[in-house]
Amino acid sequence: MDTSDKIAILADAAKYDASCSTSGSARVNKGGIGNAAVGGICHSWSADGRCVALLKVLLSNACAYDCAYCVNRRSNDIARTGFEPEELIKLIMDFYRRNYIEGALLSSGVLGCPDRTMERLIAVAKTLRTRERFHGYLHLKAIPGSSDELVLEAARWADRVSVNIELPSAKSLAAVAPEKSPASIFKPMRVLARASGFEPKRLTLGLGSGAPAPRLLEAVSPAESEEKALYQAGAVKDCPSHADTEAQAMYKPDAVKAASSQAYELPTVMQARKLRPRNPQSSLLPAGQTTQMVIGASPESDRDILVLAENLYLAYDVRRVYYSAYVPTGADPRVPALAGPPLLREHRLYQADWLFRFYGFAASEVLDGGSPNLDAELDPKCAWALRNLQRFPVDVNTAEYLELLRVPGIGPKSAMRIVRARRQAALTPESLGRIGVVMKRARWFLCCSGVPAFDTPARGAAIRAPSIDNPAALRALLGDGASSTLLPLQKEFSFSS
Ligand code: SF4
Repeated sequence: MDTSDKIAILADAAKYDASCSTSGSARVNKGGIGNAAVGGICHSWSADGRCVALLKVLLSNACAYDCAYCVNRRSNDIARTGFEPEELIKLIMDFYRRNYIEGALLSSGVLGCPDRTMERLIAVAKTLRTRERFHGYLHLKAIPGSSDELVLEAARWADRVSVNIELPSAKSLAAVAPEKSPASIFKPMRVLARASGFEPKRLTLGLGSGAPAPRLLEAVSPAESEEKALYQAGAVKDCPSHADTEAQAMYKPDAVKAASSQAYELPTVMQARKLRPRNPQSSLLPAGQTTQMVIGASPESDRDILVLAENLYLAYDVRRVYYSAYVPTGADPRVPALAGPPLLREHRLYQADWLFRFYGFAASEVLDGGSPNLDAELDPKCAWALRNLQRFPVDVNTAEYLELLRVPGIGPKSAMRIVRARRQAALTPESLGRIGVVMKRARWFLCCSGVPAFDTPARGAAIRAPSIDNPAALRALLGDGASSTLLPLQKEFSFSS
């Protein structure tokens, strides 16, 4: 099989991995080839909507594991091939010199055992950095179950290393990806968090009775401090009992009792990130770690998925959680027989995730309406606003920045512009449009110095007109059309794949 045939197979097999955005690194080129820029590498999107900015390729699609959602699983009858490390190094350098790519995302099926596979991936990365003096962006996948030493070694050569969380519960992981365990995933995540200078937290539940207690981030115990010291001394060590409790807490925070009186209330992801300075020029793992969850291959609700994602952001400082709609890959009875990948659900989860990271929402707020799943017709912010109409209208001339962020149609930039502009003069609906507020959405939720930003209807017409007194009419008006765009695509995808 020649190289182009291998690329066709191995790049196609890698397309299911969505966790490939490239921003976050700013390593300086010291006389080699290539650059890794803070602003990220240019992205392009393949016909099926997946990011192909990098040379996203597998070292091999042969795999000893049998994850039911994966096209490369052991039991799937497909053509198998692989690169030798030198072959892949040559390919990356050739593509880079021709300006085809600006970096690479390297992953692999499990070649015998996780450590052997990890060693081969590291060999490619290390040779690129040392012999070829390649300064471009490198993202390596850590193979679940790899030893801590190898995960740490991968972090030395790559801008980003990621471990895929794969499924939103330990039960589904056992049923669908039987060779993987929560500990084999959370352990490397913890190593990577420490490698990037973040001390992992333990999630737990506050003591108390009656109303549900707040979830907490537990302070580092003396035992964990000792563990940290060992890391710092270079002797990587893990505490198995810690790994087990941690896995339980990540998936099911309510099942864990608080063990420490030093615990404190859980911050939002946005708050936690503000407190965590980043150094994109750091020599170790400058772009941090990411992870990916497969959506629709197991029965968990959007609530389960979002709670887990929030936990990962808070406990391990994961930079991004990617949601990958499960692409049906044959008739494996362990996964549901979907007509096509749930693209609409994936889209809504990304929108909700955005609310964590940039709008100050908590997972419990995004789904505070009793339903375990996100609204298919409305984006999660509009859906939240409609469930919380008592908080509106918000007055743009007096509201706090965080209150403004919660108004549909106002983003972080426009909220900041409002705060600055109102220092000069009181804002009017006309001026809001000019500073970037999407008035089509925002007008129903805003007022300017007490005057509603939409035309106040005559009292008799108020019942029918869309307003915060008429949520049904408002709902009809706020639909973003994603369902009519994505549902037909789901069907098309199922016919073409
Ligand atoms: S370990 Fe599982 S997800 Fe990864 S390539 Fe093998 S079968 Fe696919």
